[in-house]
Amino acid sequence: MKFTCEICVIGGGAVGKASALALAQAGHEVALLAPAESRVATPDHWDVRVYALNHSAQSLLSSLKVWDAMDQSRIAPVDAMAIHGDDAGLGGYLGFDAYGARVGSLAWIVEDSNLNQALDSALRFAPNVKRITSSASALQIDADQATVTLDTGDAISCSLIVGADGAHSWVRGQADINIDYRSYNQNAVVANFECERPHHGTASQWFLGSEGIVALLPLPVNRVSLVWSAPESLADQLLREPPQALCERLAQLPGMSLGQLTMLPPAQPRAFPLRLIRAQSPIANRIALVGDAAHAVHPLAGHGMNLGFGDINALVAALARRDHPADCGDARTLGRYARLRKEEVLLMQLATDGLHRLFSTNLPPVRHLRNVGMGLVDKLPFLKRRLMSHAFGRAASLPTGEST
Ligand SMILES: Cc1cc2nc3c(=O)[nH]c(=O)nc-3n(C[C@H](O)[C@H](O)[C@H](O)COP(=O)(O)OP(=O)(O)OC[C@H]3O[C@@H](n4cnc5c(N)ncnc54)[C@H](O)[C@@H]3O)c2cc1C
Repeated sequence: MKFTCEICVIGGGAVGKASALALAQAGHEVALLAPAESRVATPDHWDVRVYALNHSAQSLLSSLKVWDAMDQSRIAPVDAMAIHGDDAGLGGYLGFDAYGARVGSLAWIVEDSNLNQALDSALRFAPNVKRITSSASALQIDADQATVTLDTGDAISCSLIVGADGAHSWVRGQADINIDYRSYNQNAVVANFECERPHHGTASQWFLGSEGIVALLPLPVNRVSLVWSAPESLADQLLREPPQALCERLAQLPGMSLGQLTMLPPAQPRAFPLRLIRAQSPIANRIALVGDAAHAVHPLAGHGMNLGFGDINALVAALARRDHPADCGDARTLGRYARLRKEEVLLMQLATDGLHRLFSTNLPPVRHLRNVGMGLVDKLPFLKRRLMSHAFGRAASLPTGEST
């Protein structure tokens, strides 16, 4: 059987689902192709996969009617950030807060399951989206259309393929788009905890030199979510240790103010390998890549998903200005999409990769400089506001006369 639509989104992660919704909302006939999900709903547990979503992401999800469909009681606003270097004596501390940024919240911590359930509900009501549960097995690109053959033998023909199939993108491979790939030789260990003292909406981060980077993100009430980007051998050890040992390690972090921590059920940390992936182009003939298919970054700044949502905004904007209304996949439109994304993606890749390199060396002069530098930035409100405006989705306002 052959099915025809304007745009076929391949990949059922949050970026793929949000792409399908946004493109449908812009008036396109969309197919969303993804294999059956293996996610198991555990409503009593706090999901260990959480995202810090910035203002741009929040605004996209609101416009798609997804934000309000999430369980608001499970979303935690981030009111402040406390970033600790690895030498407090040298001033290695940097703090941001919503008041300084002149916004209500810097970001929001959202569970993967909460986000995906709301995206699924929105997709059920989206009139222009057909969900197809299958995997793609072949892709053929012709002058005026693309054809995806499914495992079932069925086919979808369309004028544009959106590759939202994650870091190991099949679409990217079919399009012969080369990538720069570098493993960070780190795994992100994630787990949730109840804490003895309130976190006051503060997301805390510790740069620990050779032990990696620890982030504790606020969850509702006295709970926090851990992302410890640890060298592989340490990550293995953290996974093997009893939960209490990890709680004790965290309680000993310098400047830790949460008191004793208790790991929340299922009390089994998980780990994710960390790598930098840079597609040499986010486009090919009748193909646009979005999300991790186009760029996977280190989670130290909590921005992979935010970048993916930024791709969606740019793709919708590029399509709205297309020269040929009947052809969503024409080269000029895709070129416009690539140009719209170039700067933000490159900046975020350079910033996260640069910070990772800066904080992973133990050379004394570098250690000195990075800690003194943090203290200096902390005392420069102008620079801090500029950093905030980039980090939190340009919502942090700048005084009159300053431009982004
Ligand atoms: C520990 C950790 C913490 C993070 N924290 C943050 C954060 O705080 N904030 C933030 O913004 N980002 C964060 N990120 C990054 C974020 O998780 C990713 O950027 C985001 O999940 C990418 O979403 P995606 O939809 O592009 O890819 P994925 O979530 O990988 O989804 C890809 C989908 O494609 C499907 N697929 C694969 N192959 C095929 C195929 N051949 N055919 C059809 N479908 C296919 C898969 O089944 C999957 O559903 C974090 C990442 C990690 C590892």
